[in-house]
Amino acid sequence: MDPAANLTAIQKRIKAACARANRDPAAVTLLPVSKSQPPDAVRAIAALGLNLFGESKVQEAKAKIPLCPGHLRWHMIGHLQTNKCRDALELFDMIQSVDSLHLAQEINKRAEQAAKRMPLLLEVNVTGEASKFGYQPERLLRELQQINALKRIEIQGLMTIAPWTLEPEKVRPFFRRLRELKEQCEQILGAPLPHLSMGMSGDFEVAIEEKATFVRIGTALFGRRPPANTTKAAEKTA
Ligand SMILES: *Cc1c(COP(=O)(O)O)cnc(C)c1O
Repeated sequence: MDPAANLTAIQKRIKAACARANRDPAAVTLLPVSKSQPPDAVRAIAALGLNLFGESKVQEAKAKIPLCPGHLRWHMIGHLQTNKCRDALELFDMIQSVDSLHLAQEINKRAEQAAKRMPLLLEVNVTGEASKFGYQPERLLRELQQINALKRIEIQGLMTIAPWTLEPEKVRPFFRRLRELKEQCEQILGAPLPHLSMGMSGDFEVAIEEKATFVRIGTALFGRRPPANTTKAAEKTA
């Protein structure tokens, strides 16, 4: 795998999707997802000029970030447990995966202690799949004002994970639903929300056509993720 060639190909596809949707490519941020990738892989991508990365586990990020170039910035994109909020506030510039009022309150509390403000996205489960984290849409709309009232957090938009599919066109309705939900949130709040984080390696072009501002891309950029359990797998074959 050649990260430079991967990046060039992805950027070309982002531009083409933007052209189809009449959008400025500068309005779409590519968020490389470095979960399960070692610091060397992050360094290789950072050397291509990317400086914002996504991680999905606090523990992994806490170990990895100090081994990566210091100028990089990081977004949390995985499920966050309340007992990891303090670390998350230190490690990340944005938490894209806030999925309950309780979690937002905990982030708010920790942000206050750290004298910070934390930008966040609210993760929505637009597919209704029981296996997925994320706000159920009706509940999000009910609790939105309460979250917004928290002084140390700043709601910047919505995030979702579409079902895995070989046919990206099939997930378009979920991206569209998230976009409509953002409009409903904007009406409730009486203010615009700048971000829609949606689209991954298999479906980012469709997401861009539906107005994604962050596309979170792992495998198409880094290549396949190393298996999580390398040592155990090695033990088994030994
Ligand atoms: C792993 C992950 C991605 C990237 O997935 P790819 O299919 O490898 O591009 C994006 N978003 C979240 C929340 C993830 O956990």
